Amino acid sequence: MKDRPLLMIPGPIEFDPEVILAMGRPATSHVAPGFIEQFGSALEMMREVWLATSGQPFIMSGSGTLAMDMAASNLVEEGDAVLVVSTGYFGERYAELLKRYGAVVTLLSSPPGEVPDVGEIEDELQRKKYKLLTFTHVDTSTAVKVNPEPIGRLGLKYETLIILDGVCSVAGEEIRQEAWGIDVVLTASQKAIGVPPGLALLVASQRAMETFLSRKTPVRNYYADWNNWLPVMESYEARKPYYFGTPAVSLISALCVSLSQILEEGMESRFRRHAAIGSAFRAACKGLALDQVPRSDTVAANTLSAPKYPEGISGAELLPQINKAGATLAGGLHPAIKDSYFRVGHMGAVTQGDLLATIGAIETGLLKCGYHFSAGAGINAAFKVLNSD
Ligand code: PMP
Repeated sequence: MKDRPLLMIPGPIEFDPEVILAMGRPATSHVAPGFIEQFGSALEMMREVWLATSGQPFIMSGSGTLAMDMAASNLVEEGDAVLVVSTGYFGERYAELLKRYGAVVTLLSSPPGEVPDVGEIEDELQRKKYKLLTFTHVDTSTAVKVNPEPIGRLGLKYETLIILDGVCSVAGEEIRQEAWGIDVVLTASQKAIGVPPGLALLVASQRAMETFLSRKTPVRNYYADWNNWLPVMESYEARKPYYFGTPAVSLISALCVSLSQILEEGMESRFRRHAAIGSAFRAACKGLALDQVPRSDTVAANTLSAPKYPEGISGAELLPQINKAGATLAGGLHPAIKDSYFRVGHMGAVTQGDLLATIGAIETGLLKCGYHFSAGAGINAAFKVLNSD
């Protein structure tokens, strides 16, 4: 018998065995030729995954919050106006983080489960000149997805740099950084990128790099300062070592394996697979008559879902039962609605089998908690979507 449940939270996720194997190899020197090649090719592959041919990739040791910090500290100077479009917990975090670097933040928030209207965002950009706009592509606290394309267009029209927090979306949801005019797309390793936690990843546009290079004041974050890291990235890409801080050699080797797998699958197929898995899971929720946090399918993410608990059943009862039945899931995160829903991650190396097993575990948990439903309704609904063509 397998001795562990499936890890179906919104990161860390189930990782591909080849990626885990790469982590387990003896650590090499960060200036060893083999490692220089891995680091260099990981940077090159990031451009392909991000669909940003002329972007500048950065790979740093840290979690997703460091990637947020890196973008903010390098692009913001004291007194800069920043518009934060927030769809939940991580938008609020970005607003707080930006203030530390002297940004004057305007917060445009939507109630949990909803996304701000593009017209509302444009009105705000018309009202005031903003240097920067940030938004969370998929807010992991609500499973709500914002459409980046029109926001990218607004960034070009109003000459505002656009930062996309893609921690829960990069390499899962469709993102075309360059074509959509997004200046920074940032993420972390532990989600759809498919590598254990520990890497902060980001690609910056030429426009963002020019803004950084024309700063008048020093970057206020010593560790994240691109003046320290740009020569590292440029050198490794030219297959030469350069030291500022010791790179996470084992994680970068694993990243190299994972990015190769992602590109082997192909970005278009990967977007399609995640879309199918997301809609299959939402269909399962409907089959089980579970409401969901996102207001509609159009604003629902494909990388994770947020079903609500049925009337009279709490997370404290249900989640341990689901865990016993084979899937570890996450509780709610948005402070306003935390106890009313749970979260299921379905991204990266996740298979149709993992998804169906997870829905099966949810059905078992619901049954144990005394919920009345037609057994198999969730699995059947998902199965139909997954095999519809
Ligand atoms: N932004 C989003 C959308 C996230 O989902 C997360 C992590 N769940 C973060 C930022 C922060 O990433 P980390 O926990 O790796 O610091």
